[in-house]
Amino acid sequence: MPGLRRMKIMIRDNTKEIRIGSRVIGGGNPIAVQSMTNTKTEDAEGTIRQILKLEDAGCDIIRCTVPTKEAAESIAKIKKAIHIPLVADVHFDYRLAIAAIENGADKIRINPGNIGGADRIREVVGAAKMRKVPIRVGVNSGSLEKEICEKYGGVTAEGLVESALDKVRMIEDFDYDNIVISIKSSDVMMCVRAHELIAKETRYPLHVGITEAGTVFSGAIKSSVGLGLILNQGIGDTIRVSLTGDPVEEVRAAKLILRSLGLRRGGVEVVSCPTCGRTEIDLIPLAKKVEEMVQDVPLDLKVAVMGCVVNGPGEARGADVGICGGKHEGLLIRHGEIVRRVPEDQLLEVLREELLSWGIES
Ligand code: SF4
Repeated sequence: MPGLRRMKIMIRDNTKEIRIGSRVIGGGNPIAVQSMTNTKTEDAEGTIRQILKLEDAGCDIIRCTVPTKEAAESIAKIKKAIHIPLVADVHFDYRLAIAAIENGADKIRINPGNIGGADRIREVVGAAKMRKVPIRVGVNSGSLEKEICEKYGGVTAEGLVESALDKVRMIEDFDYDNIVISIKSSDVMMCVRAHELIAKETRYPLHVGITEAGTVFSGAIKSSVGLGLILNQGIGDTIRVSLTGDPVEEVRAAKLILRSLGLRRGGVEVVSCPTCGRTEIDLIPLAKKVEEMVQDVPLDLKVAVMGCVVNGPGEARGADVGICGGKHEGLLIRHGEIVRRVPEDQLLEVLREELLSWGIES
């Protein structure tokens, strides 16, 4: 079948399977891509619009903040209009956690340490148990408990792990093991170390992300390094690339990270040359246009965009399809073989037609 390449899929930790609405994570299931809305959850219409865009971009699970009763009630409306599981993010108020569950949240994210004592945790766990809603407990390096910081001499990977496992026990104490864990730090190597440590201690699925990673450029780089090191060890069941930007960029970055590691198939990978003195066409905007054109194409293909006919065809040999720029014209290439010459201003359109034909063939 055209376009299907063999990829090395890494064997991942055999974590416990957890169902989040229609999606099952852990236990060797594909790693799910998560993102978080940045609309007001109380604004159901606006939140639905954003989630539908994220679904189109390939988001598997969405998280919405629930800071008010109105936001908890909005979940019921949002859930009717979306097609992916919804996680309610709740802080401090156990009643909001219960309201989110009652309004159909598929998972809740809480910090059992800040919702006010054992009785309240028991009530939240009781509501989750009744509807089989998993609870994600997590720690964030920015809010690590004072006692743990003192014990370890500051924020450390060991302290993050101890804190996360303490919180897991707070849920387990009420006889509930439908749990996902997250440990987040903006320090990439601390985050990596914490995941290595906790993966040895628990079989609960891990939601992995580098928190407060930064703007789209720096955040994507930090997340790629951190998630790459963690996922490559077989650790991690869901991921989020946290970016200061449009959440759609988070999803695109997450998918690219998974594809680069051979952990996800499908989608077009664009490779493009860095340009040099031989470049004959305006390659940089052309490569960007190609990337935009293919980002939602569901084919599993590699497309090369090269700047010259001297080295381009050779360098594009590893791609399924390629275009190379010449003087006022370019080449269309299939598996390293030149198919035809094309005027420069028609290269993008010719590539689009070629991709359409691959879609029809496959
Ligand atoms: Fe330079 Fe051609 Fe290589 Fe691009 S493909 S970097 S233009 S030699």
